Amino acid sequence: MLAAGTAGLAALTLPGCATTMARPVTAKRGCLPPVNVAPDRVIRRVAGLRPYRPSGFVVRAEALGSKRLVHNYGHGGGGITLSWGSSRLAVDLALPGHQGGVAVLGSGVMGLTTARLVQEAGFPVTIYTAKLPPETTSNIAGGQWYPSSVVDSSLLTPAFSAQLVAAARYAYRRYQILVGEEYGVRWMRNYSLSNRPMSGVGSVDSLLLDLFPEAKDVAAGDHPFPYPYVRQYDGMIVDPGRFLRALERDTRLAGGKIVVREFQTADQLAQLPETTIINCTGLGSRALFGDAELEPVRGQLAVLLPQPEVEYAYSAPGGLYMFSRADGVILGGTHEHGVGVAETEPNTIDRIVEGHRQLFAGFRCA
Ligand SMILES: Cc1cc2nc3c(=O)[nH]c(=O)nc-3n(C[C@H](O)[C@H](O)[C@H](O)COP(=O)(O)OP(=O)(O)OC[C@H]3O[C@@H](n4cnc5c(N)ncnc54)[C@H](O)[C@@H]3O)c2cc1C
Repeated sequence: MLAAGTAGLAALTLPGCATTMARPVTAKRGCLPPVNVAPDRVIRRVAGLRPYRPSGFVVRAEALGSKRLVHNYGHGGGGITLSWGSSRLAVDLALPGHQGGVAVLGSGVMGLTTARLVQEAGFPVTIYTAKLPPETTSNIAGGQWYPSSVVDSSLLTPAFSAQLVAAARYAYRRYQILVGEEYGVRWMRNYSLSNRPMSGVGSVDSLLLDLFPEAKDVAAGDHPFPYPYVRQYDGMIVDPGRFLRALERDTRLAGGKIVVREFQTADQLAQLPETTIINCTGLGSRALFGDAELEPVRGQLAVLLPQPEVEYAYSAPGGLYMFSRADGVILGGTHEHGVGVAETEPNTIDRIVEGHRQLFAGFRCA
């Protein structure tokens, strides 16, 4: 489920799914408010580049001359999800024995959560960044709390699995205390839709299953989707724009400095006054630190007018996924490996919108 694919929902695998404890989502059994999908309801089209490494994200310390450099990058399609946890691991590597201010490179979700954790530990922070929100990949994300497309499962090692699970578990707890309007985090029911039975449990999947409460198969007649196999779980969804704004505010309020500066080479880091540097440059790490494994995976999204009554998400065959957020209904999507141009293509957006329109044309209530 963690390899390339859809928003991750479709491949969530569960042992012996029970059909007990169904929670009524709407008054009428099996009904959900449909999304009103039409080309003239599209309010924006966006594309972003996921910073993907087949062997998984990097959290590692190394010496840079007399300085300590800690990496925290390469989170693919799961960076919003893993942010607090991956940054926790990075900060725990960076701070022992450190004195004085800490430099953080990048102000996407990794840079900002790292900065906050450093501040919480009592150290001053300066963020050095080429671009600030909203000009980051993190602002483009759909924001579903799910570690999707973060590793090629055929390359999973025990060490990376442990790192992933540790990051996911800390992030899961940390996001829960931010639920509410201020940080743009809320709980939402997710549905995986399939034409085939969903079965089998992968090694990492089984370690994370308890992070997906109320997971079960939904019987035909208890859902309106035009697919024979439907699975649900409850998860969080993050509005990245609001979340990043709040983190940037918190960082500044706690005395953090933000310097707009793009580094061309790692050698330039030697000029920084800080002796500990945490690298959160996402895809930028490819050029800055020569990580040739890091590749862009472009994702294109169409965003429809908001529909507050739609309080669910789904993923469906063909790479389709939908998350309903306060700032719009997010329709995905694509996973275009190796495409490094963060621009939308009209034909692709049309195809995404049409795919969702057809799904709702088959919507039915019991
Ligand atoms: C379409 C799409 C949908 C997604 N959906 C989800 C989802 O539902 N859930 C989820 O968890 N994740 C999702 N993701 C993935 C998520 O967006 C990324 O994993 C995450 O944003 C990576 O965060 P980051 O902070 O590492 O990188 P970025 O947000 O790219 O931030 C990198 C920062 O480093 C700075 N920087 C880069 N190079 C340099 C340099 N040389 N010098 C100085 N500064 C530099 C940049 O300016 C920027 O501030 C999605 C991504 C896309 C594209």
